[in-house]
Amino acid sequence: HDSKTESVISDWKSAQASQNVQYGKRTNLSIKEQRETLPVYAMRSELVNAVKENQFVVIVGETGSGKTTQIVQYLSEEGFNKGPDGSKKIIGCTQPRRVAAESVAKRVSEEVGCNLGEEVGYTIRFEDRTSPATKIKYMTDGMLQREALNDPYMSRYSVIMLDEAHERTIATDVLFALLKKATVKNPDLKIIVTSATLDSDKFSKYFNNCPVIKIPGRTFPVEILYTREPEMDYLAAALDSVMQIHISEPQGDILVFLTGQEEIDTGCEALFERMKVLGDTVPELIILPVYSALPSEMQSRIFEPTPVGSRKVILATNIAETSITIDGIYYVVDPGFVKLNAYDSKLGMDSLIVSPISQAQANQRSGRAGRTGPGKCYRLYTETAYKNEMLPNSIPEIQRQNLSLTILMLKAMGINDLLNFEFMDPPPANTMLTALQDLYTLSALDDDGFLTELGRKMADFPMEPALAKTLITSAEFDCSEEILNIVAMLSVQTVFYRPKDKSNLADQRKARFHSPQGDHLTFLNVYRAWTLNNYSKEWCKDNFIQERSMRRAHEVRKQLMTIMRRYKHPIVSCGSDLVRVRRALCAGYFKNSAKRDVQEGYKTVAEQTPVYLHPSSSLFGKNPEFVLYHTLLLTTKEYMHCVTIIDSKWLAELAPKFFRVADPTKLNDQKRNQKIEPLFDKFAKSQDSWRLSAQNTAK
Ligand code: ADP
Ligand code: MG
Repeated sequence: HDSKTESVISDWKSAQASQNVQYGKRTNLSIKEQRETLPVYAMRSELVNAVKENQFVVIVGETGSGKTTQIVQYLSEEGFNKGPDGSKKIIGCTQPRRVAAESVAKRVSEEVGCNLGEEVGYTIRFEDRTSPATKIKYMTDGMLQREALNDPYMSRYSVIMLDEAHERTIATDVLFALLKKATVKNPDLKIIVTSATLDSDKFSKYFNNCPVIKIPGRTFPVEILYTREPEMDYLAAALDSVMQIHISEPQGDILVFLTGQEEIDTGCEALFERMKVLGDTVPELIILPVYSALPSEMQSRIFEPTPVGSRKVILATNIAETSITIDGIYYVVDPGFVKLNAYDSKLGMDSLIVSPISQAQANQRSGRAGRTGPGKCYRLYTETAYKNEMLPNSIPEIQRQNLSLTILMLKAMGINDLLNFEFMDPPPANTMLTALQDLYTLSALDDDGFLTELGRKMADFPMEPALAKTLITSAEFDCSEEILNIVAMLSVQTVFYRPKDKSNLADQRKARFHSPQGDHLTFLNVYRAWTLNNYSKEWCKDNFIQERSMRRAHEVRKQLMTIMRRYKHPIVSCGSDLVRVRRALCAGYFKNSAKRDVQEGYKTVAEQTPVYLHPSSSLFGKNPEFVLYHTLLLTTKEYMHCVTIIDSKWLAELAPKFFRVADPTKLNDQKRNQKIEPLFDKFAKSQDSWRLSAQNTAK
């Protein structure tokens, strides 16, 4: 089975490559004509005037009507790149997803006729493609939120468009409040809030009863089909539906909503195999995946028109719901699920969970089938489930995710009074307290809940607070060179390549890099070896290392270096004294420590949750007493991912606000064995004082 799957994958990949050749520029319309046929074009002067006359404007329009690509261009054409005093200003547009920021910036630079990064550019984490010439800047909402740290009034911008506002990401929600505040001090700043589906009254009310402009849609009816019974295996059901549509329905492309990369790749391979069996008996089916981690060459292929006589099927994550518009879709297959980042209070961390979509999302998805003509949507759930089990709207991220990074940034902006911060929908008090606790145990906050010097430094890093602390500590422990390599490696998709037909050889090669101290140092070994071999492609191939991931890690490392240098954290190597590296990791990730269990596996020191070493870890079978892990992977068991040996003494030493050495006189036999214990009592006291401090500042 394994080697067969492999050959199918490689067939599928080469088939994709040859499909590429068949494509060409097949649209007859010039870029100018394409722009002028979009629904927003008819509204051009109305939109421009509304922005001229109002500080806030809410714009609602169907996906594909031209909001993201056109509005900023209109404003730039109308002279919004100059402030009232003639100074140069940027028109900014935020996107919740990095792929969308990148792909839209590319498209707009083509429309404008400039090189990407000149007049039109984008900024996403670890990647800045802008220059002093940039007039239109797309960016993730997270990056703009970060800019508010150093420029709270957004003085570089004339207009900021908060796009895809209905997605309600934490960063967009925080930006609502930050930008509203900024406009008080910067009356020339204009804010546009855009979305396809949005409760426009609620948004208008929030932004001082600002005008709402609706862009008339150009949509066709979509027939909705439900399954009679709930589907047990939605992926299989989705693939069956695709084949059924392809064989029996008139021409028109298909869009399938799946939850993630792995599922999409599996789906593409399975479809390819089914098509191969059918051979020439059916028309060609062009199979295309769309997800965030997709290389950009592949991303642009989804926009190419389908050659006559064939059909395109796109297997996409939620990104195709509103962020990216693909023309020519007549059929939508909707299994009804989405992968959400949610805070799991039991694990004390964020994790990705496959969850049912909301009714609003279901309708947005089916709408994708009615852009070019009357379409059909195959919902792989029952009508009863739609009506009775789905929520009308999705829950904003801010109400379900870990807020420690957000709160750290707000504190760094001098916003201490979180209770009175003007959230559109305030997060639950509990979530805020958990975040405050996390920051307190990392020593980013003091006993009164105010930012410490360390906390301020941590806020400069665009990453989770534990990682920021590790980086800062590494500079103090003289091992920042090594930690930079490790952090860069942790931030990319897996670097090890393990083809199923050569898994033994791949494992042997990987084992050569294994460090007896654990996986973080294994990463360090790989990175060092790659550098010593002059970043060689051949070397990667010989060692079953994914070259793409390595190059990405290299890029991330450069960006991290820039941040370290900018904030004057020395970059020093510890040579062979790698204990320092493990201690620096411990200073950030002490909460992820686990102790070997007497029965089997491990238990986390803080919560006593059972966790396990993954067979791919270099520590598998060695079972050291104390370890720390980078993340937990929930599959059949709760597996620790990326694990390193630590000394239990370090915990109390490096995290004095979280652990103390257990008092042997007060513990029973079993607990005495623990050596170290969490300091839960201390939190209770501190929480009170935080509440107080928030109230004090409110007065
Ligand atoms: P909205 O933001 O209202 O959903 P967009 O401005 O993103 O609309 O898209 C307008 C049109 O531009 C789409 O209908 C699509 O045809 C086209 N378009 C957008 N991005 C690309 C791209 N990367 N390549 C080709 N066409 C694109
Ligand atoms: Mg858009």
